[in-house]
Amino acid sequence: MDFEAFFSSRLDGLHKEGRYRVFAELERQAGSFPRARRHLGGSTSDVTVWCSNDYLGMGQHPKVIAAMHEALDRCGAGAGGTRNISGTTHDHVLLERELADLHRKEAALLFTSGYVSNWAALSTLGANIPGCVIFSDEGNHASMIEGIRHSRAEKRLWKHNDPADLDRILSEYDADVPKLVAFESVYSMDGDIAPIKAICDVADKHGAMTYLDEVHAVGLYGPRGGGIAERDGVMDRLTLIEGTLGKAFGVVGGYIAGSAAMCDFIRSFASGFIFTTALPPAVAAGARASIMHLKQSGLERARHQERVRKVRSRLDGLGIPTMPNPSHIVPVMVCDAVKCKWISDLLLDNYGIYVQPINYPTVPRKTERLRITPSPLHTDADIDHLIGALSDLWSQCAIARAVA
Ligand SMILES: *Cc1c(COP(=O)(O)O)cnc(C)c1O
Repeated sequence: MDFEAFFSSRLDGLHKEGRYRVFAELERQAGSFPRARRHLGGSTSDVTVWCSNDYLGMGQHPKVIAAMHEALDRCGAGAGGTRNISGTTHDHVLLERELADLHRKEAALLFTSGYVSNWAALSTLGANIPGCVIFSDEGNHASMIEGIRHSRAEKRLWKHNDPADLDRILSEYDADVPKLVAFESVYSMDGDIAPIKAICDVADKHGAMTYLDEVHAVGLYGPRGGGIAERDGVMDRLTLIEGTLGKAFGVVGGYIAGSAAMCDFIRSFASGFIFTTALPPAVAAGARASIMHLKQSGLERARHQERVRKVRSRLDGLGIPTMPNPSHIVPVMVCDAVKCKWISDLLLDNYGIYVQPINYPTVPRKTERLRITPSPLHTDADIDHLIGALSDLWSQCAIARAVA
């Protein structure tokens, strides 16, 4: 086989469909978030980032940077091994304690990313609980889908955020079948939020475990940044809460929190936990500093929500269509793959504004969008500049406005 020709032809296919992904090469500027330097063909320009998942700018917070410097100087660069073989450092243990406390659970377990935590936890639970059936929200993230697939457990999809549909499907199974209900709190592309309490009520009725991905909510919601389940006062209703250290907490890594026995079980049986080098101690220390800060400071969360409301109301004023939702994610609906990419390119090249276009297969065709994530550090001037640019481009591109 001509492997090179095969690779090229498959890439050509992506180009033809307008789905080929091009990276923006950025150099983030600590101390001036959301600013970054863009590298392109040997030259650089300054851009304002409007699509970061470092939602609060914690990646450059002085406490986080200081904690990472301190741990780097104290421990050196890497962990030195898997968690079993010399890689469990004091900083990992302190971070797991912090995470258990954040979610008011007995224990927590760290992974190298949120993706790996979902993949490893769901595949380990599904594969090892005899006869387990997993009931998965149809909007769940790729990492959950892959974990469930790898478990080889029977999987049933239920309608997105629909407890009545979940109840109907759960009712098809005998009471003694082990069941696991897997869902997210904030869905990151539409920005909608799950009715967690209603889903837990249904799961309890059928004796099912509950597995909640709070990746887009930890640090951002709840009085201590514990997520939507904390905000809604239902953290104790979840069997397992999964989160990331790479989005609102601004560093990298993933985790689960739950009972001591369940965390110990996953620690003991999950290949994706056992056979990989532990996170660097400096990463653990930085993430812990971020969590500790956001536990006792609500300022960032309040300012974040205020900035989101401001961006939304300015877009509404211009009639630029957004998908309504109750979260911090502002999807500007272009609904055309070519126009979406065109607007994104011009925002970057002509206005110094970086918003990545979101196209199929991340979202369904004809719902292509610009996913804007305002942060507490975007200024009024940043917002004026964004709104002015979008207004110009909207007219040039002849896309319908919501109110004429
Ligand atoms: C980003 C994401 C993950 C993966 O987390 P990482 O720490 O980035 O690997 C898991 N679940 C959802 C819903 C996500 O959006």
